[in-house]
Amino acid sequence: MNSESNIAKAINSYIDELPSHVTLVAVSKTKPNDTIMEAYDAGQRVFGENKIQDMATKWEALPKDIEWHMIGHVQRNKVKYMAPFVSLIHGVDSLKLLKEIDKQAKKNNRIINCLLQVHIAQESTKFGFDDAEIRNLISSNELSELDNIVIQGLMGMATFTDDEEQIKSEFKSLNALFTELKNKPDTANLKPQILSMGMSGDYQLAIDCGSTMVRIGSSIFGARNY
Ligand SMILES: *Cc1c(COP(=O)(O)O)cnc(C)c1O
Repeated sequence: MNSESNIAKAINSYIDELPSHVTLVAVSKTKPNDTIMEAYDAGQRVFGENKIQDMATKWEALPKDIEWHMIGHVQRNKVKYMAPFVSLIHGVDSLKLLKEIDKQAKKNNRIINCLLQVHIAQESTKFGFDDAEIRNLISSNELSELDNIVIQGLMGMATFTDDEEQIKSEFKSLNALFTELKNKPDTANLKPQILSMGMSGDYQLAIDCGSTMVRIGSSIFGARNY
């Protein structure tokens, strides 16, 4: 199997297929550097990882014009390892975590872009805020004091199911909350413009429901071996 041309082909077909307002995050978790470079050589610059340590190792080794997105669950004690370089953190699920990101961003003289993760799936294992918690957070005084983060939007993961109607209703509810946020006046650290939803199996539904950023792994790089 010629995997090199397969990765380049997959990248190119996504670039052709995705509407221009939708950003492709190539999810390279568990994949080695030479595999990532095949996608890079095809023009891809935005990559997603779900383990901070792996992402830091790859950042050190690979070209510096790659934008690294943290798409996994974030432990507060590891934020410091990605604070110097991370370009977007998708899975922010508590005010405590946001405060730690702000603190580490300050130490690095940076502003770190974040998405708030919203719990839209039926599974109880997926992390995230509910709608009411998002509304509380964005209007809180504590948020307005965080000078080194910007909330760029929301992220969510649908239930793992074949039921398209259910997936759609979850994506639609996330888009409704996103639209509500966008309709508020921007503040210094709240500028909602990114809605991160959709993976290999459901990205088309996600785009139909308003996604502006899709996180695609296995249909670019093949199945993962853990
Ligand atoms: C692994 C992962 C993806 C990519 O999943 P695929 O089904 O391989 O496209 C997207 N988002 C998150 C949060 C992930 O952990």
